[in-house]
Amino acid sequence: MVTENIVCVKCTNVLDRSTIAGVEVDHCPSCGGLWLDRGELEKLGTRSAEELTDLKKILGVDPKVPPVPDDTTIHCPACDGKLREVRFGNILIDFCDSCRGLWLDKGELDSGLKKVQEEGKSVESLLVLAGQIAG
Ligand SMILES: [Zn+2]
Ligand SMILES: [Zn+2]
Repeated sequence: MVTENIVCVKCTNVLDRSTIAGVEVDHCPSCGGLWLDRGELEKLGTRSAEELTDLKKILGVDPKVPPVPDDTTIHCPACDGKLREVRFGNILIDFCDSCRGLWLDKGELDSGLKKVQEEGKSVESLLVLAGQIAG
């Protein structure tokens, strides 16, 4: 459902698309951010560390751009919704209430994966449990 040429939510680059262990992900070649559609973080959480090596590699870019200040309204790259910062484990992720996609800044993937792996629940149910989104 994701349209072509998604622009990064944190900088002005167009996101690259890669298929990692059967999961299609959109990532920013400039700031190392990662856009995941609904359910994709859970899918990545079932893959082995080896299968995710390529993803870690492509996200390991040196940031060329400063991140957007947190009070800026960020439009969802996949729908008409807006992204909202919510707490997910020990990180803050940008979450879309409409399409339930999420954005991970550079370096946040490991924490996000760990959270879904440890809890064995979807991102959505964890956010609902934490009172971060409506059920
Ligand atoms: Zn970017
Ligand atoms: Zn959305």
